[in-house]
Amino acid sequence: VGDLTGMEVANASMLDEATAAAEAMTLLQRANRKSKSERLLIDTDLFPQTRTLLYTRAEPLGIEIVEADLADGGLPEGDFFGVIVQQPGASGRIVDWAPVIEAAHERGALVAVGADLLALTLITPPGEQGADACFGTTQRFGVPLGFGGPHAGYLAVHTAHARQLPGRLVGVSVDADGNLAYRLALQTREQHIRREKATSNICTAQVLLAILAGMYASYHGADGLRSIARRVHGHAQWLAAGLGDAVVHQTYFDTVLVNVPGGAESIVAKAKGEGINLRLVDADHVAIACDEVTTDTHVVAVLDCFGAEVPVGPEGALFHGKQRPHIEVRTSEYLTAPAFTKYRTETAMLRYLRALSDKDIALDRSMIPLGSCTMKLNAAAEMEAITWPGFNRVHPYAPVEDAPGLIKLIEDLEGWLCAVTGYDRVSLQPNAGSQGEYAGLLAIRRYHLDRGDSHRDTCLIPSSAHGTNAASAAMVGMRVEIVKTSPNGDIDLDDLRAKIADHAERLACIMITYPSTHGVYEHEVAELCNLVHEAGGQVYVDGANLNALVGLARPGKFGGDVSHLNLHKTFCIPHGGGGPGVGPVAVREHLAQYLPGDPLVKGSHAVSAAMYGSASILPITWAYIRMMGADGLRRATLTAIASANYIARKLDPHFPVLYTGDNGMVAHECILDLREITKRTGVTVDDVAKRLAD
Ligand SMILES: *Cc1c(COP(=O)(O)O)cnc(C)c1O
Repeated sequence: VGDLTGMEVANASMLDEATAAAEAMTLLQRANRKSKSERLLIDTDLFPQTRTLLYTRAEPLGIEIVEADLADGGLPEGDFFGVIVQQPGASGRIVDWAPVIEAAHERGALVAVGADLLALTLITPPGEQGADACFGTTQRFGVPLGFGGPHAGYLAVHTAHARQLPGRLVGVSVDADGNLAYRLALQTREQHIRREKATSNICTAQVLLAILAGMYASYHGADGLRSIARRVHGHAQWLAAGLGDAVVHQTYFDTVLVNVPGGAESIVAKAKGEGINLRLVDADHVAIACDEVTTDTHVVAVLDCFGAEVPVGPEGALFHGKQRPHIEVRTSEYLTAPAFTKYRTETAMLRYLRALSDKDIALDRSMIPLGSCTMKLNAAAEMEAITWPGFNRVHPYAPVEDAPGLIKLIEDLEGWLCAVTGYDRVSLQPNAGSQGEYAGLLAIRRYHLDRGDSHRDTCLIPSSAHGTNAASAAMVGMRVEIVKTSPNGDIDLDDLRAKIADHAERLACIMITYPSTHGVYEHEVAELCNLVHEAGGQVYVDGANLNALVGLARPGKFGGDVSHLNLHKTFCIPHGGGGPGVGPVAVREHLAQYLPGDPLVKGSHAVSAAMYGSASILPITWAYIRMMGADGLRRATLTAIASANYIARKLDPHFPVLYTGDNGMVAHECILDLREITKRTGVTVDDVAKRLAD
């Protein structure tokens, strides 16, 4: 991604393109030390979902967004900390952004460009045009559309801004013996370290999808990608040649915008009759996008819908990417590392993948010494359906009537998750637990605002909470107040009462984890929820680890107003070395109207680029719940609790269990206290964890 965008450093496992744009926005603001402005300027030709997400994220942070057509005019009046444009634009046009970037810099603003990686194999990359950041998606590098996801987004910057990138960076180094080694070079996994001072809450990302896209690039290499891009562009050129004067933008890559005064709807309807979805832009405009899978037959069928003649094409070298097109002006090389030339046959690629996988310790050969307390086995029977084209070849914005199967599955799942959690409504849109937290806290914020309680901006968080809780609260503009834990590990109710009294009028909510991150069912949870409700606050129950509750207790019934769940933990979606995930947000009725809306609708408070987030992996959870049934789920929970208690009892004499409930029992996990052992022997927690992996 760094090579293709002309940048030096990239995070290529962002949640999706639209959230990467939102991260780019806050990155520009942080990185711009010269500007005090809180205004962001965006081009009108951004994808609608990108624009929606920018509005969602900007509002709680006090960022004001100004929209203008930047390709045709100069920058509007006033100060801006940043400018965001897109290449190619939503309308398909390619714009030379270099003058705009220069003008923005002169005015003290930094610039981020949303760019299509396949187009960048041909055109000049933003990094070479002076852009400060570049964002987008790697989806078209071999990842199924999947009705919205999962796909990996990316965010790339020049070295100067490397420390502002969200996530963790892997760097190339040498080990103690002088061998090539990869290590974590920059650990801005900041939500765990900086907590409420964090600037991003990203936790689960899109690691597996980043690997897929990386391997696609490795298999094709620079020349292969270039010829794919030429062919895609060739089909677009062929369409444009047939449509003639109706084509709006003369410089485009894969998308052709067509002007058909008053005729757009009938053309789109005609194409649909032929089994082709075209994009209805407005009553006068239709957009047609070509991709790697576009064929000559598609081109002929589409031209027929417009009543256009098919220009001589099938034999034309230009239309088949066999000739250098005029948009191909890129001069710099890319993907020159050996991995992009060494594995160009199916067997070579297979052996490469196998060799890499052999270096990993994963669930297929060992236990994982990580917080896997709530992760479930991903059975092949659960996984099989995600390979079906009916699920994974559906476009993110396909009309719902084209996806009745997925919609049925989504509705089933929403209903089942309501039944499991005791809440009234569920949104499957968030594509990670941290994203679910963000959506849930946004709902709480909007609830208070609608009631005229704009002063309610304080979020109470126990000191034991997962770090992402505090980071999410900060991102919705809340002030975080830490509640102490008592020596037995429970939330200190006296301190909670004091904090509620201190912040009475300003109390927005509390975020609790149940069972606590200490692995104990806290008996006072209902009382705790009452205290917060009586003070006018809402209760957020972090349900990332529902392993100890499914079938036994429901957060929506014991005091929660909103929770997120992690389908990639408790509900069998494999964790892919760090993603993909699904983090549904569940609410009681009074918050239902504040759930994330349609990302194509500006102001809908969407949190992901697609309505149902990572829709194509939902069949895994659907299959798990369907096969287990209510009894099976309950039995699984009881088994987990019994197993955790068995382990705790067996180990306690040697490795003391740190926290237990009043009855001496733990929930679905336990913490072992190694401090004495370390003091006596020098053996550390890491040593034990590594030995378990061995
Ligand atoms: C994993 C986890 C999260 C974050 O979920 P992601 O999907 O990783 O973003 C939040 N809270 C708790 C308690 C968790 O265990």
